[in-house]
Amino acid sequence: MTKNGLVDSGVQLNPELVLKPTPQNGNIREEEQMMDYELSEEHLMIQKTIRAFVKKEFTREIILELDEKQEFASDPFKKMAELGMLGTCIPTKYGGGGSDLLSVFIIHEEISRVFPSFAVDLELHTPTVDYGLINRFGTEAQKQKFLPAMCKGEIIGALGMTEPGGGSDVGNFKTKAVKDGEYYILNGSKCFITNVGCPMPCICVVLAHTDKSKGSNGMSTFLVEKDTPGFNVGRKHNKLGVRSSQTHEIFLEDCRIPKENLLGNEGAGMKQALMGVNYDRLMDVAIPVGEAQGLLDMTLEYANLRETFGKRLNQREAVQIALAEIYTNIHAARLMGYYVCWLDRVGRTGKEFVVATAMAKHFASHIAQMAAWECMKIYGGHGFMKDNMIEMFFRDNMAIDLGAGPPTILALLIARDLLRVYGIDPFHEK
Ligand SMILES: Cc1cc2nc3c(=O)[nH]c(=O)nc-3n(C[C@H](O)[C@H](O)[C@H](O)COP(=O)(O)OP(=O)(O)OC[C@H]3O[C@@H](n4cnc5c(N)ncnc54)[C@H](O)[C@@H]3O)c2cc1C
Repeated sequence: MTKNGLVDSGVQLNPELVLKPTPQNGNIREEEQMMDYELSEEHLMIQKTIRAFVKKEFTREIILELDEKQEFASDPFKKMAELGMLGTCIPTKYGGGGSDLLSVFIIHEEISRVFPSFAVDLELHTPTVDYGLINRFGTEAQKQKFLPAMCKGEIIGALGMTEPGGGSDVGNFKTKAVKDGEYYILNGSKCFITNVGCPMPCICVVLAHTDKSKGSNGMSTFLVEKDTPGFNVGRKHNKLGVRSSQTHEIFLEDCRIPKENLLGNEGAGMKQALMGVNYDRLMDVAIPVGEAQGLLDMTLEYANLRETFGKRLNQREAVQIALAEIYTNIHAARLMGYYVCWLDRVGRTGKEFVVATAMAKHFASHIAQMAAWECMKIYGGHGFMKDNMIEMFFRDNMAIDLGAGPPTILALLIARDLLRVYGIDPFHEK
């Protein structure tokens, strides 16, 4: 096995199943509306570049130290910007790569194959905050102000939705924003917020009630810079998995935000935040796909070396069958993710995008957890030990399932769509 867990022989990502690049975020020709699985030169180049980058930056020793100390990988984040790997799908006029969401999916998959924690920091920055929120709903002035700095890695993006009172029940949040002349004044608290505690400037999209009487239609999103007085970053959460990813509390205490920092229109916040979460959710497909691929990489190498009762483990049919199951599941989950990228590429970002993303995340997190357990069993006791990457992947997998829509919430979303397709009212009492 190589030091960072990548295997050079045997297991390669399936490069043939990638779409062609988007000319410029939409605006595509009619013939390109067809699904096309040919790998574009651009996607291949991005895949090759990020794979080499990850291999160089994240050695086994570095990963284990960052995980143990719960430290953010600051240098690799800056180097990603130098490589043009932050804001890949942001239009070039704002300093981005002008590519499509599939490029970002590939980047997250490749990182997660080696170090999933770093992909969790990245997914909130791009595509959730830059592409899913600011580029989609921001004013021209907001895009000019924040996107180039985000692409250069000068500021990191964060999304402040979840509150101590509950994450799934968004309408029940307590944080409120009251208009005061040219400002809004924010009060409330958030928890489990990725990236706000990174040792660098941060732009946090905060969801708050502007008119509680209107319920979810009275919520708005605000672009809040971390150094704003009254925006206080609280304690760091000590986590089971993705430990290098920074997760903190936030306290908003009379935090005064200029009205220009309202994202989109007042009252549209809930819809915007949920749309942003969909991009987070899509990366929560790429991450478990990468995790499962990384587990497979390591386990194939190990099963090729380990001998029991005079035979190598990979010569045992029971092991081969387990590996075949993982391999097939990765392929299926990856295709589900690619399909969602294609929906975005052709502008089909309504309900089918939401449901397809939920299905893909639901499936991908499940198969990655299965892969982690199967691989740990193939490794035996060695897989359980801390200096082995299998153990870290086993823990990291859990976070992906819980964040951005836990399994039951996604299952309910999918079930409601299913029932509606069959003309059944999911809320009918009888
Ligand atoms: C590593 C990590 C990073 C995160 N980063 C961020 C971030 O950057 N920004 C952010 O805003 N949040 C973030 N979160 C929070 C995450 O989005 C929430 O944990 C998630 O939305 C669930 O909310 P909750 O934990 O409060 O669970 P709850 O909403 O309390 O739900 C608990 C359980 O009950 C189930 N449940 C809830 N309601 C129902 C129902 N009606 N029917 C059936 N089952 C139900 C849920 O599926 C879940 O299993 C992060 C979480 C983690 C673990």
